[in-house]
Amino acid sequence: MSKAILVLNAGSSSIKFSVFLEQGDVLNVLLGGQLEGLYTSPRFKAKDAAGDLMNEKHWEQGEQLGHDGGINYLAAFLREQLGEHQLVAVGHRVVHGGVDYAAPVALNADTVKNLARLIPLAPLHQPHNLTPIRTLLEKRPELLQVACFDTAFHCAQPAVAQTFALPAEISERGVRRYGFHGLSYEYIASVLPDYDAQAAQGRTVVLHLGNGASMCAMQNGQSVASTMGFTAVDGLPMGTRCGNLDPGVVLYLMDELKMDTRAIEKMLYQQSGLLGVSGISSDMRTLLDSADPKAQFAVELFIYRIARELGSLAAAMGGLDALVFTAGIGEHSAAIRERVCRAAAWQGVELDTAANLAGAPRISTANSRTSVWVIPTNEELMIARHTQRILNAQA
Ligand code: ADP
Repeated sequence: MSKAILVLNAGSSSIKFSVFLEQGDVLNVLLGGQLEGLYTSPRFKAKDAAGDLMNEKHWEQGEQLGHDGGINYLAAFLREQLGEHQLVAVGHRVVHGGVDYAAPVALNADTVKNLARLIPLAPLHQPHNLTPIRTLLEKRPELLQVACFDTAFHCAQPAVAQTFALPAEISERGVRRYGFHGLSYEYIASVLPDYDAQAAQGRTVVLHLGNGASMCAMQNGQSVASTMGFTAVDGLPMGTRCGNLDPGVVLYLMDELKMDTRAIEKMLYQQSGLLGVSGISSDMRTLLDSADPKAQFAVELFIYRIARELGSLAAAMGGLDALVFTAGIGEHSAAIRERVCRAAAWQGVELDTAANLAGAPRISTANSRTSVWVIPTNEELMIARHTQRILNAQA
């Protein structure tokens, strides 16, 4: 029998889950999967540690499960799968920890209340992250629950990296740069010494390129600057999010096009980025496979923005020793990596084309002044590790 830690990542219409078993000193994944379409046509899928399908279920179109129904279904599935293993804690991905939560925290009614106050800072994510926490607090009050924040890794950034040049009283309300994807960056920081001890102690830019995309400047394993700011819509253009935008554009949309807050939010979060520019797809694979000039331009803009941000992040550190590519596009697209590396040749990057095509961990030549790595991220494991640490500290 092993101790089991459940990791949950609840979004607006989906719940992703993983189960880790404590075996000796390590956490091994037992299974993982997701419930999607909670409010439209729910679908459940679970895979074992080898990635083979264990279980799948589709509900009728229109048959809503909701978050509570989803948690109930998942609980029944896990009871069956866990067998004699004992569920000892649940770790949650929570997007916003605000200024107060610079590290993972054990959850109770008070912490949940504090985290709910941050909903205005992340209205599209925070309420959904909190839903299963509340359900479990009610149904299994004895079970340890831990919140792990996407913002926490960036909390120690210097004030100049965190501050908007707005009136001080607005900054004091918490309107500042927070940065996100922190669990991914923290995971990369934790394994980077195994790949490149010099990079781990030096000046590294990590490129988390997935549907959501951002970049983080890390010095000696600590975040010193990042492309995402007050919200996760800032920085790079993403699948459907616009990234960096002159705030004057928002004023124009309001004044000239008479768009209200929700319409602007929808445009900036769901209709922009690769999808908006190409008019074809938010999916990088589709765009790379397309001969349509609009698809090609969307990819070109993505690369251009990455290259500009790379200059900016290197400037924040006074130089650059290493790059790390991670997440869906970063881990799997040799073509995007090659184009980014070419654009970064002036920063001492020399790509090893064969290694890049092979997706080898090191994809820069032995002579490259800046080393370049492909390292798969593992946010779930990071959450499980934090949860285990808090569990052990309470024992
Ligand atoms: P999320 O942010 O939702 O976790 P992922 O990290 O899974 O997203 O990344 C999804 C993105 O990765 C999509 O744009 C997808 O097209 C892209 N991607 C995955 N595999 C490849 C590939 N082989 N080539 C290019 N893009 C890829």
